[in-house]
Amino acid sequence: MSALKLMRCSSCPRLRASIGIGSVRHAASKPRHDYDLVVLGGGSAGLACAKEAADCGARVLCFDFVKPSPAGTRWGIGGTCVNVGCIPKKLMHQASLLGEAVHEAVAYGWNVNDQDLRPDWRKLVRSVQNHIKSVNWVTRVDLRDKKVEYVNSLGAFLDPHTIEYATRSGLERRQVTAEHVVVAVGGRPRYPDIPGAVELGITSDDIFSYEREPGRTLVVGAGYVGLECACFLKGLGYEPTVMVRSIVLRGFDRQMSELLAAMMAERGVPFLGTTIPRSVERQADGRLLVRYHNTATGADGSDVFDTVLWAIGRRGLVEDLHLPAAGVRTHGDKIVVDAAEATSVPHIFAVGDIVYGRPELTPVAILAGRLLARRLFAGATQLMDYADVATTVFTPLEYSCVGMSEETAIELRGADNIEVLHGYYKPTEFFIPQKSVRHCYLKAVAEISGDQKILGLHYIGPVAGEVIQGFAAALKSGLTVKTLLSTVGIHPTTAEEFTRLSITKRSGRDPTPASCCS
Ligand code: FAD
Ligand code: NDP
Repeated sequence: MSALKLMRCSSCPRLRASIGIGSVRHAASKPRHDYDLVVLGGGSAGLACAKEAADCGARVLCFDFVKPSPAGTRWGIGGTCVNVGCIPKKLMHQASLLGEAVHEAVAYGWNVNDQDLRPDWRKLVRSVQNHIKSVNWVTRVDLRDKKVEYVNSLGAFLDPHTIEYATRSGLERRQVTAEHVVVAVGGRPRYPDIPGAVELGITSDDIFSYEREPGRTLVVGAGYVGLECACFLKGLGYEPTVMVRSIVLRGFDRQMSELLAAMMAERGVPFLGTTIPRSVERQADGRLLVRYHNTATGADGSDVFDTVLWAIGRRGLVEDLHLPAAGVRTHGDKIVVDAAEATSVPHIFAVGDIVYGRPELTPVAILAGRLLARRLFAGATQLMDYADVATTVFTPLEYSCVGMSEETAIELRGADNIEVLHGYYKPTEFFIPQKSVRHCYLKAVAEISGDQKILGLHYIGPVAGEVIQGFAAALKSGLTVKTLLSTVGIHPTTAEEFTRLSITKRSGRDPTPASCCS
């Protein structure tokens, strides 16, 4: 390990212990740059990297700046997850689940007088925003405590080691130099290139702080964001319609995705299939007239909505970075990196959503950022493992999965080498409110031979995210069907179903249980 690295590692408590050096910091020669590390972007990836690097003794500066959305929404430090992503989404998801629970409570004997329960949207938004503001505050305190300098400005490359930014007043431009730069600028929602889209539509950047009730909402896009937003809006008593350009949840297991869409439709979320929007106009009554086109039938149509929410994917924020000044290679609006997150310029790295071809998920961003900091400043060598990352779509009955879809397994290994075990199940708590068994389904995609190594686990049901998180660790450790079926379940839970899978798809047997005990 170089003297410089050893000197830096000496302030990293974990590393001090593991490499057996004392707590005394050695005098350093004068550094060549203002900072050891400048991080561009204070979201999940950037903050994790900056804080870990500071823990390891590096001198760190982190830039974070949020341009207001076209609808004027702005927010503080912490990035997408905290402000306009995972956290507010999970809170709205929870609010919607509670509404459902209140209705189920009646079946369980609760006297709920007002059967027409409706949430107070403004109060919900206020509570969600208050929570976010408290997280913003804690984040700033944390940065200060960890001695990460924070500048609330957009950073851009002037040359490969120099970052330029505007001061708070915007009147002056300043420059800092860094030995290493980590780009973690994430992305923002896309808008379709049609009349009225930007002026009249909103996105996930706006919905969690939207001041007026969304009402009848057209959700355009059937990826994670589209389905999740449609579901919590439905659960909160509004009327979402999902416009699907091609298929729902591209990239996920097809059977699970179609099942999820069918479940949503059954719960009253209509889908406009093979349809694309053409224009949005404001009517005299203030509502929004959306014209659209069915690409399969060729038919044109229109409908009137209170809100139009674009959920058509996200674009990487490369445009403000002046990457050509540093020579960093891009692929469209994303940055190309190698296995060690290095860009085409060896001392410039990228982590999180801005990276080309990697999952756009917060835990991925955090772990990649943290591991990178340890490699840069603590002599560590561990690379981020992007395989078998578990994920959950937070629809009311969640869909969670880890590993391969059935299609991918068949494509990579051949249909004859794959066994799929599956089953519908009815959680105990579904019986009294008489909820459908059709809404919970699970399957394990495995090798057919030997102990049957499991390649993928898929699960639609209550709290699926919590269930799959544990199984994800097992899958990463080489879980087999043999081990799974010899694991004693916890009764009565829904996760237990994984230990009772007995029906193979190839047997053609009906995977519907006769009762809860079957
Ligand atoms: P970001 O969190 O976007 O942070 C980048 C930051 O850099 C931003 O603050 C940005 O304004 C700032 N910035 C941009 N350019 C510059 C610049 N030049 N200088 C300074 N600062 C700059 N993931 C999950 O795992 N689970 C979920 O449930 C989940 N739900 C989601 C729900 C929604 C609605 C959305 C949109 C996303 C969701 N995600 C979820 C994805 C998750 O939010 C992202 O993967 C994660 O936030 C990416 O982190 P990041 O640090 O790469 O980028
Ligand atoms: P996705 O890429 O997942 O989905 C975009 C959807 O919009 C697709 O259905 C796509 O259709 C459709 N679409 C794209 N362009 C158009 C267009 N011009 N007109 C009509 N429809 C269009 O993006 P999201 O915004 O939903 O999510 C972005 C990322 O954020 C996800 O990949 C995920 O990693 C992360 N995220 C994670 C969550 C979680 O962990 N629970 C929740 C939310 C987001 P088509 O299939 O035809 O291309």
